[in-house]
Amino acid sequence: MTEPTPSRRRFLIQAAVAATAIPLLARLAGQPAMAAAKNLTADNPQAKALGYVENAATTKNAAFKPGSACANCQFFTAATGACAIFPGYTVSPKGWCSAWAKKA
Ligand code: SF4
Repeated sequence: MTEPTPSRRRFLIQAAVAATAIPLLARLAGQPAMAAAKNLTADNPQAKALGYVENAATTKNAAFKPGSACANCQFFTAATGACAIFPGYTVSPKGWCSAWAKKA
């Protein structure tokens, strides 16, 4: 077998890179999580329904347990600020809502 010429080698490398990158880019482009998340505010209808506040210390909700906050909730992802209960939004680590559940 003969060695590939430099232009053939370059073509093969570019084809391999494209074969790897194109499906990955297409997959990333189709993910809603890639869309910029908005900060959740207390006037959001779903936030109102769950009694969300941006500062847990300010809630008057009867379900509030002292020490609970988004930062220690199982639905909170600290790296992104995302909350699984409010897809497409970020929440404050100091926030709280009635869906709070202790992080395992
Ligand atoms: S579910 Fe948890 S992380 Fe999400 S807003 Fe409520 S308390 Fe915060």
